Amino acid sequence: MKEFNAGDVLSLCKRRGFIYPAYEIYGGIAGLYDYGPLGTQMKTNLINLWRSIYVLSEGFIEIDSDIIGPEIVFKASGHAENFQDLMVTCNQCQESFRADHLAKDLHPNPGALSKKDLQALLREKNVICPLCKGDLSDVEEFNLMFKTKIGPGNGRVGYLRPETAQGIFVNYPNLYRYAREQLPFGAVQIGRAYRNEISPRQGVIRLREFNQMEAELFIDPANKSWPRFKLIRDVKVRLVPNTDEKEVEMTFGEAVDNGVIKHETIAYFVWVTQSFLIRAGVDPKRLRFRQHLRSEMAHYAADCWDAEALLSYGWTEIVGVADRGAWDLTRHIQYSQADLSAFKRFDHPKEVERQAFKPKYGLLGPEFKARSAKVGMALEAADVSLLKDGRVEIDVDGEMMTIPEKYFDVVLVKEKINGEKVIPHVIEPSHGLDRIMFTCLEHAYSCDDENYVRMGLTTAAAPIKVGVFPLMAKDDLDKRAMEIDQMLRERGIATYFDDSGTIGRRYARMDEVGTPLCITVDYQVFEDGTVTIRDRDTSRQVRVPEEGLADVVEKLLKGIKFDQLIGKV
Ligand code: AMP
Repeated sequence: MKEFNAGDVLSLCKRRGFIYPAYEIYGGIAGLYDYGPLGTQMKTNLINLWRSIYVLSEGFIEIDSDIIGPEIVFKASGHAENFQDLMVTCNQCQESFRADHLAKDLHPNPGALSKKDLQALLREKNVICPLCKGDLSDVEEFNLMFKTKIGPGNGRVGYLRPETAQGIFVNYPNLYRYAREQLPFGAVQIGRAYRNEISPRQGVIRLREFNQMEAELFIDPANKSWPRFKLIRDVKVRLVPNTDEKEVEMTFGEAVDNGVIKHETIAYFVWVTQSFLIRAGVDPKRLRFRQHLRSEMAHYAADCWDAEALLSYGWTEIVGVADRGAWDLTRHIQYSQADLSAFKRFDHPKEVERQAFKPKYGLLGPEFKARSAKVGMALEAADVSLLKDGRVEIDVDGEMMTIPEKYFDVVLVKEKINGEKVIPHVIEPSHGLDRIMFTCLEHAYSCDDENYVRMGLTTAAAPIKVGVFPLMAKDDLDKRAMEIDQMLRERGIATYFDDSGTIGRRYARMDEVGTPLCITVDYQVFEDGTVTIRDRDTSRQVRVPEEGLADVVEKLLKGIKFDQLIGKV
């Protein structure tokens, strides 16, 4: 097998219609790419696989919220203030660069350096513009959000969302109600996110417009166990814990028991992520989960693991799984004043003591006459903390009344309560779809010494499932093959009909785009009604009756091995 790099994969992607640089006829724009016909189909396949796991197997609800949001949302989320990278600009050619990228060979973790320290490091090492060798500006902050205005004139400031997650948080009251006011519940969103990256390189790894699949699981802060965790205790995972930063393999059970992963819920969703990625086509040998260093982890995060894939660019984050605590909801409560809590019912009602107003009805009567009963009831219901300077303001039938303390006592009352309000904690698996897709493509890619390219895409991800060929485009072979092609499409199987060139060339074209199966219709079909099915990975062929062909194809696509099939047909 030949060595290859991301450039080889990207050039195949462009040639065969997976990924195109956007606006190419106008010279292109860094960080913007379009998906071609095969890329679009593959992206849909990955989304469907992800959805089948989160929405069907794990029971999350799915929403589709706005891409544009008003400024206050991103003030609450922290993006308006903190979502920035440090940047330097060349004084000569005016090109801008991420300051930490220019320091990557000068420091073990330049991304964790402060603006001042990064500035000092770049100056001390006399770092100059990598393009034209000009002097660089001071390090400055650059906010990555795309800013816009909602409405004409002095319309409100808005931003394109830098992640899909906020659309779920701002809908929390609706979703909590939809989930019948019970924890835990989870919501997902699949959609575009926008980040005005400073100098995007590395193909589709760093984009300015990209696709996310994010899940937000709302859980009881006092209970981070997860019932289904017991099902995956013995599954193995490769971890890089932040304690010694060395890669270790262990079971999820060991990881939680030894405190490497903080609790069952985050461990379970690391497993969900691992199984999704492997089913999508990420090579398990090139996949690991790295725990964020303490310096990297957000101050509110209880634990955070990145799924990293080994690409020709090096280990690359493709998914982040974090326990974000109560941070997001608490911030939105502060900024919106909305109630974003959950009511946690106790197993048994609890007796609690609290302070309350006890009206002096003997005095209320003469003073408030016919209204005295209503004033008394309003006092009983009022919050004692509202007592100020010997008087309290209460709402009596919509009218605010100030009642002096001679009309009531403050007493301790006992009462039974059934539960309490809590702010749920959030577990967030956040997937970068474009990075996952590129990983599947790169991990599937192989090229032998004769330059024969074979893409070993999984059947779930492959955009075309079956190539259908007549041996010759004549003698009714083409008509028969077209019928098979149509029949498979009607069964929901994506096919590609090809009658041009030699059969070898046609197989090669399908191998190059990762098509798992090819069906060839040759003259034997007229004798015994059979056609051949060819397996991409082994190039083996087997004759199968035309009748029942779709069932056989479906079984093969579901994972029945080709060898098992040979004995059966
Ligand atoms: P983050 O919110 O930064 O943790 O990002 C969540 C996921 O989105 C990451 O794991 C990446 O896979 C993906 N992602 C983040 N930034 C970009 C980008 N500029 N281009 C493509 N994917 C990205």
